[in-house]
Amino acid sequence: MTETRLEIAQIPVLQDNYLFLIHDPVSGETGIVDPALEDETVNALGARGWQPTYIFNTHHHWDHVGANLALKERYELQIIGPAADRDRIPGIDIAVGEGDRIHLGDHAAEVLFVPGHTSGHIAYHFADDQALFCGDTLFAMGCGRLFEGTPDEMWSSLSKLMLLPDETAVYCAHEYTMANGRFALTVDPENNDLIARMNDVERLRADGVPTVPTSIGLEKTTNPFMRPMSEHIQETIGMVGAPIPKVFAEVRKRKDNF
Ligand code: ZN
Ligand code: FE
Repeated sequence: MTETRLEIAQIPVLQDNYLFLIHDPVSGETGIVDPALEDETVNALGARGWQPTYIFNTHHHWDHVGANLALKERYELQIIGPAADRDRIPGIDIAVGEGDRIHLGDHAAEVLFVPGHTSGHIAYHFADDQALFCGDTLFAMGCGRLFEGTPDEMWSSLSKLMLLPDETAVYCAHEYTMANGRFALTVDPENNDLIARMNDVERLRADGVPTVPTSIGLEKTTNPFMRPMSEHIQETIGMVGAPIPKVFAEVRKRKDNF
């Protein structure tokens, strides 16, 4: 275990994206996770006096890599991104895949390959710090749209994340929680944990408070995309006893049409 915790700053950008800065106070090393916009990133770093050493990209979409090249020009930093997508990550220096380890000072992150939203999507898991940066794979009560992957791929990616400890803080890249929760209630209407969570979320969002980070434990009890094995969900959508990946696919399809 490292003795100091990573400092994590969360900055809302664009309509509903979050930019994350991760900082090791001992070495001074700082990572920028999925920078969409240059000015907002520069201001957030400057306000904290942090010098960036790395960009961590989860996938190639513009709202996650938009500021890569501008930031690389401005600072001495290296860009880490998915090996499977090296041609689509602007300025990539370090291409990583499943099981690779990245260090920010003494803090290690393991790379998880989690395709589904895009074919090359990865997540960064800082196990000792109990923090997961998962881009657009897992959201609070939701999961990413399947732009380039199959339901089976996304289900195995989410299954991989479900193996992480319940206390793991999940830093997902969008504040989609309210809309996700409204959908979740349509397929899992009698889930008391979900109903209670939505009450909290409505209160928080009314005050403009972020609902991110969430946690693996909370998602396992309230996120319908992590619960296709729930008999109640299966009953609600008329698929009792169907193969779990098929149930997942149906829930994803219903969300697309919600
Ligand atoms: Zn995306
Ligand atoms: Fe996104």
